[in-house]
Amino acid sequence: MHHEQAADDSERRSPAFFNKLTASVPGVIFTYWLSADGLEHRYPYVSGQVMRLFGIEPAELQASADVIFSIIHPEDAEGVRDSIHESAAKLTPWQYRARLRLPSGEYQWFEANSEAERQSDGSTLWYGQFHNIHHYKTLEQTLRESEAEFSFHAGFQHLIARLSTEFINLQFGSIDECINELLKAIGEFFSVDRAYLYEFSDDYRVMTNTHEWARAGVPALIETQQAVPISDFRWWHDQIDAMVQHNRVVFIPDVAGLPAEAVAEKALLEEQGVSSMFCVPVKVRGRVAGFFGVDSLRQRGWREDQADLLIIVSGLLSGALERYRLEQELLNQSIRDPLTGLHNRRYLMPRLFEMLGRAARDQESFAVALFDIDHFKQINDEFGHLAGDFVLTEFARLLGMQVRTTDVVARFGGEEFVVAFVLEEADNVASLVGRILQSVRGHDFLFEGAAMDVTVSAGIAGVVDLPSVPLTPEPVIGKADQHLYLAKQAGRDCFVDASGVCRL
Ligand code: GH3
Ligand code: MG
Ligand code: MG
Repeated sequence: MHHEQAADDSERRSPAFFNKLTASVPGVIFTYWLSADGLEHRYPYVSGQVMRLFGIEPAELQASADVIFSIIHPEDAEGVRDSIHESAAKLTPWQYRARLRLPSGEYQWFEANSEAERQSDGSTLWYGQFHNIHHYKTLEQTLRESEAEFSFHAGFQHLIARLSTEFINLQFGSIDECINELLKAIGEFFSVDRAYLYEFSDDYRVMTNTHEWARAGVPALIETQQAVPISDFRWWHDQIDAMVQHNRVVFIPDVAGLPAEAVAEKALLEEQGVSSMFCVPVKVRGRVAGFFGVDSLRQRGWREDQADLLIIVSGLLSGALERYRLEQELLNQSIRDPLTGLHNRRYLMPRLFEMLGRAARDQESFAVALFDIDHFKQINDEFGHLAGDFVLTEFARLLGMQVRTTDVVARFGGEEFVVAFVLEEADNVASLVGRILQSVRGHDFLFEGAAMDVTVSAGIAGVVDLPSVPLTPEPVIGKADQHLYLAKQAGRDCFVDASGVCRL
């Protein structure tokens, strides 16, 4: 009557009973025994799952636990043994995570939990289970990676936001500092060794390194990379073509792996110690004006989205360069005369104020000469307005050739020009102006076959001609204007200064 005795203890503790009980548990239920000397170990009981999971017979494990230990991942094996010995010594629960090899050869993560119990002979017995946590581990890994990814992108966005703010608040003249700052920030963010900006000549024959950041201890190359002829590097030339024509990035993951036709490039890069590099075209007004690039001196992996991120950086540079160029043009337009290219009155006046300041402070002397073309109306009437424009342009060119870079030349009005001479001890303004008048008289003004006789008159005034250094430039110019009037009265083609009429 075995059935009536099903509740009997011995019946309940039979292997068949435990096997039924554990069959539906996803993990492996076990008792693990370790001898007092730690030399022998086995699984007195291990549920049938061990067969299903690892293809190991429970009977085999009842004889020795070695076979299970032989499928532990080599990196985890020592940790497993140490933790078991610690649990045996202190009788603390044994909990551990390790990778085990499946019959497919793949390793998966398992977690064990068990309670330790000392036996009368000094050996230890654990009661517990271990189960597959691979799915959980994979999720954990994915989460860690996506967190790292997220913080990388957040960092990148933060950096770009900071840099664009800097570019927006850019003051005139500080674009170079801003670009240098950007190269440094990007270089450090991507842990490269160099970051740089190159500019192409208009015909794309020559490239010049305009800005560079190099990590501490990495040699800077900017000095050696001025006006480099691109034709020296055939392969690089083709890359630049692709950059210019198709706005393509140039990525050299490994300099050693460059194609045979890039032998010159390879030699140069190796000489510079470059292992890999990444270059992105920089456009200004829809035209590739140069490129931005980063070098790595050691072998490294590159992010898959590296190109996209560097394109964002190059966009920032493009925007800044574009705006800077526009600002320079506007600034130039507002202070220059479009016909002659000379500075205009708006530029001249502040310069005169500066000269007055230096005259008052440092006794640095200056003089102003006001030039007016003689009978200019007649030239217009006789030869036409375009001929008149030509005379103005030619005169401006002659003026430019006669003065020094420290002097300021400006078109003051219609056919009136001003030169502000910065004077040194030995200077004689009268002879400088006399030379200008002579050069105009001697110049052949030829416009569309017509030869024109052109002369100019001038009035000269210096701070020394006034009782004291004035607060504004008007008295000096006024004095020069009076002298000019006298020169016209004296018959033109001459100049007048404080000493009277001079005709050279
Ligand atoms: P003077 O010897 O006394 O200086 O006689 P002028 O004819 O030179 O003097 P006036 O001031 O009577 O004439 C100046 C002329 O310059 C009048 C104006 O039409 C002409 N003018 C002013 N600006 C320009 C310009 O940009 N281009 C041309 N072609 N003519 C100009
Ligand atoms: Mg005039
Ligand atoms: Mg005139």
